[in-house]
Amino acid sequence: MRILSNVIAGSLRPARGGRTLDDIAPATGAVVATLPDSDARDVDDAVAAAQAALAGSWGRSTPDERADLCDAVADAIEADLDAFAEAESADTGKPIRLSRGIDIPRAVSNFRFFAGAVRHQETGCHEMAGALNYTLRRPLGVVGLITPWNLPLYLLSWKTAPALACGNAVVAKPSEITPQTATMLGEVLIRIGAPPGAFNLVHGTGPGAGQRLVEHPDVAAISFTGGTATGARVAAAAASTFKKLSLELGGKNAAIVFADCDFDRTVSEVVRTAFTNQGQICLCGSRILVERSLVARFTEAFVARVRALRCGDPMDPATDLGSLVSLAHRDKVDSYVALARREGGRVLTGGEALGGALAAGAFYAPTVLDGLAPTCRVSTEEIFGPVVVIHPFDTEDEAIAIANGTRYGLAATVWTNHLQRAHRVAAALDVGMVWVNTWLRRDLRVPFGGVKASGVGREGGDHSLSFFTHDKNVCVALDIGAGA
Ligand code: NAD
Repeated sequence: MRILSNVIAGSLRPARGGRTLDDIAPATGAVVATLPDSDARDVDDAVAAAQAALAGSWGRSTPDERADLCDAVADAIEADLDAFAEAESADTGKPIRLSRGIDIPRAVSNFRFFAGAVRHQETGCHEMAGALNYTLRRPLGVVGLITPWNLPLYLLSWKTAPALACGNAVVAKPSEITPQTATMLGEVLIRIGAPPGAFNLVHGTGPGAGQRLVEHPDVAAISFTGGTATGARVAAAAASTFKKLSLELGGKNAAIVFADCDFDRTVSEVVRTAFTNQGQICLCGSRILVERSLVARFTEAFVARVRALRCGDPMDPATDLGSLVSLAHRDKVDSYVALARREGGRVLTGGEALGGALAAGAFYAPTVLDGLAPTCRVSTEEIFGPVVVIHPFDTEDEAIAIANGTRYGLAATVWTNHLQRAHRVAAALDVGMVWVNTWLRRDLRVPFGGVKASGVGREGGDHSLSFFTHDKNVCVALDIGAGA
């Protein structure tokens, strides 16, 4: 069993109060590590360490030096990819194929990408009569990064890389449910010689550690990814200290399937959008809207594919679906299936926790429902698990209305071979991201984020660089000596 530590001022530390939490592998129920159950004192220590780093060599670092640091982090994670992937799968229950093939490589790319971005960053210059304006981009200072359990290192690196590349000092508070890879990242930064205090890590619960980070008067910005209800609490707590805020929140995304789609490819890709990471990706499509003329054929083929998915040991490379993140989360997912039954829905496949050899873990069968109104709770609330609902629609306008009929607005997919329709529907959807005939294809330069209850602000490329800096305009008179 591992004993995980906070990372403060370049050293590994337990919580000041000496308390710990258990880190449970959801696939087996075993305790795989303990982590510090930090409180406000630990957060205050981390913020003080971050301020000291900014007052020292880290505060004087150049973009090139910071880009080199990010590249070194990427190299170190890549060199240890298997260990990172195994820790990620143990903590989350996700298939090792995903951790090895997507989560950890993506963390590596995040550091490389923002190293390149900050090396090539440009700022504005505005020439006017008698004067020249130019823009300086300056780091914000100490920034707080709060992340969820579903893509632990992937999302932490998506914030840490641009924050460091821009010259901020970081205090990160990862999810208490999946703490291992964040600790490993902290250890990497110590090992490669990052200036002490440039990256600090405080483990613990939201109320115990996260809340203090959000309220701390010396923290200039909070970049938060997590649930919508937590995001509302974070926004309220940050308001009185006027922090810059980025909120990436929940979703209830639609996959809109038109009768003119490429049928076989659409069926297999919509299965992927529904069940990747056991449906625990904010971008998963859990409402499948299918044009009525295709719905019977689509449902039959879709359910057959879902039944063929292999659920089991996350460490087996052949596994398609591992376990959910915790027994508590599995029970929440199951309660939504019970609600669907009460709301008159039909369970076409799944609808139960998996037993037998998997009974000790948080496994849940991939579940397909139909027969529900698009306005019912199961179809409009975020379940964040392997449960999808199929709804028929008759017209393009009806599909758009159903898709837009939730409080969320994160992402959507559109499946059609009709060029004009694809563009029309993409433009009409109230979401931050639309994929047409594909899903989760990510160019790290493009805006990432949602509207409505799915969040505020955008991450990605220049959006991240802009979030983690403030722009300062300098106006220089050119006409001094010319009578002005
Ligand atoms: P969560 O909101 O419960 O927790 C997220 C983080 O916030 C954790 O580190 C938690 O400890 C911390 N936290 C909790 N209360 C806090 C408080 N009062 N102050 C400060 N920090 C606090 O979310 P979760 O269950 O870990 O993750 C699942 C959610 O994340 C889903 O809703 C999912 O849609 C969302 N998510 C969104 C995106 C996106 O990019 N939009 C990406 C991944 C996950």
